[in-house]
Amino acid sequence: MYSDAHFHLSERMKKILETNPLSGIISCTTPKECIEAKAFLSKHSSYTISCGIHPWKCDTITWKEMLPFLEKAQIIGEIGMDNVWCKKDLDIQKTIFEKQLQFAMQHKKPVVLHTKGMEKEILECIRLYPNTYHVHWYSCMEYIEEYRDLDCYFSIGPFPSVDKSVQKVCQLVPCDRLLIESDGIDAISWALHRNIQDDEYLSSLYTIAKQIGDIKKKTAEEILEITYHNLQRFLTQKTL
Ligand SMILES: [Zn+2]
Repeated sequence: MYSDAHFHLSERMKKILETNPLSGIISCTTPKECIEAKAFLSKHSSYTISCGIHPWKCDTITWKEMLPFLEKAQIIGEIGMDNVWCKKDLDIQKTIFEKQLQFAMQHKKPVVLHTKGMEKEILECIRLYPNTYHVHWYSCMEYIEEYRDLDCYFSIGPFPSVDKSVQKVCQLVPCDRLLIESDGIDAISWALHRNIQDDEYLSSLYTIAKQIGDIKKKTAEEILEITYHNLQRFLTQKTL
């Protein structure tokens, strides 16, 4: 059973998913993306939408324009802060992040976190907003235990073998809190430093499962099964 706990819906991903149906979360970062994902979902019901103002868009997408979509979404995210891949003002990032954390907690919606470079600050923030959290593609050698002890889910991106911090996540986080994600077909190409073909999408998810399994002393098939069920549990989680 394949699952993809976090990806963005490009035209290419739509085509790939038409022929490789699986279970997954489509991450939408703008109203336009939410509308497109909803149209896709009308024909492909095995996916769930997550929606949130991404830290990279904290000063271009307004709370007002996103609010109707946050209200409809089952999952809030990816939201967070980032001081590595974007140079947006951190005060603006934090304000919009906390506003969304508060909204998610009040409306009992689980949250997907983007933590790049801001792992410590985000950990401090989420302690203030008890909820069910899914830490997307965590890549930091520190604070893994602290997030784990808050019962967070962790999605493992492409590929554990090329990132020591992702390996450390696999080692420290129990199997029942692990998920598999591609972050979209382009992210797989990015991780491999080459353009991959559409038909390499599923085999890439398999490779992630295999590499998690090597660390957890399980087969790729067992990891695919476990992560699939973990995703279903995350999706039906009733938050506090
Ligand atoms: Zn993403």
